[in-house]
Amino acid sequence: MSAHAFLSASSAHRWLHCPIAPSLEAKFPDTLSPYAAEGTLAHKFCELKLRKYAVEPMASSTYTRRLHKLQKETGYQKEMDECSEEYLDRIKSIMLSYPNLPHVVAEQKVDFSKYVPDGFGTADCLILGGDTLNIVDYKHGKGVEVDAKNNPQLRLYALGALERYAILYPLKQVTMTIIQPRINNYSTDSISVAELRDWGTNVVKPAADKAMKGEGEAQPGEWCRFCRARQQCKARADYYKNVGLKAQEAGDPKLLKPSSLSQYLELAKGLKQWIEDLQDYALTSALNGAEIPGWKAVEGRGSRGWTDQEKAFEVLLQHGIPESILYNRVPLTLAQTEKAVGKKEFEEWMQDFIVKNPGKPTLVPDSDKRPAISNVAKAENVFKDMEA
Ligand code: SF4
Repeated sequence: MSAHAFLSASSAHRWLHCPIAPSLEAKFPDTLSPYAAEGTLAHKFCELKLRKYAVEPMASSTYTRRLHKLQKETGYQKEMDECSEEYLDRIKSIMLSYPNLPHVVAEQKVDFSKYVPDGFGTADCLILGGDTLNIVDYKHGKGVEVDAKNNPQLRLYALGALERYAILYPLKQVTMTIIQPRINNYSTDSISVAELRDWGTNVVKPAADKAMKGEGEAQPGEWCRFCRARQQCKARADYYKNVGLKAQEAGDPKLLKPSSLSQYLELAKGLKQWIEDLQDYALTSALNGAEIPGWKAVEGRGSRGWTDQEKAFEVLLQHGIPESILYNRVPLTLAQTEKAVGKKEFEEWMQDFIVKNPGKPTLVPDSDKRPAISNVAKAENVFKDMEA
């Protein structure tokens, strides 16, 4: 993976928008998220299954031995077996879309340094045949839904793959797929090789050159979310500091109207996240002895705990308190049961017992894939029913 490159593919979304981000980020330690190790292990399952199916001949005994070895690694969860099966199933369908058996490569290092200085990364899966390159990326995280549409990380990997394979295949089309099974996210985007190269030359290259030199203006936006400088970035602070002012300029001197709401909502996007980042930074600084005028760190409300719960309950039982009072039998939630039983078995055995309840109405930007809902349509339907 390209985690250590100054301009990594995984952070391209950020440096393509904000050219000073990499130089500011370099001032902060690159701490690994606790989920990174989990993702790495899940990727190993995907790689093993893909290799056995499409990359290299592997005796069943070798495969089983390797699989058992992975299952013994720290952090293993049964879910990883199922997610990697899903990954493989999706790759099988992509392979079937080729008229002839395609060439499949797993965990291929790709070099896109023609566009980004020292740019390299590792593509989870490349599928090549005829004039089409498919590039597949597995995501184990479930915190953020990753979209393949205009995804710069996948595009950079694709540019790297073209450098390596365009000489061997008459490639004209690239299809990029994200497989994120834990949140049922399967997203695909396609681009012609000519368009992709044009993007590499005219968008990526100039942006990378600027970012490399740390030139240009800071551009706050939703890409600040994972920036290592996000807590202390002055440009981000200035942006939100001015939100109220900009909103005032938007009109509506006394009361807000729905027509101007979108302007306010646009300005306030990310505001909550910024406040949380600011509070985290202030708390850490205060705990480290920094003085923050008007603020201080205090001990939160504590809670009581058992020194030895088993022994405490023994005493309660001896005093005649029945077990039914002391213990609660709580069933697992649907998601916990699915995780414990396994996705396939759960789907097979439980399909008659599952109902999809509509979620609470949520406000999202227009770009969200879900269709809009409104009470007006419901009211009209009720009216039509009454008329009927
Ligand atoms: S926090 Fe946002 S604006 Fe500041 S450097 Fe990072 S990406 Fe750029």
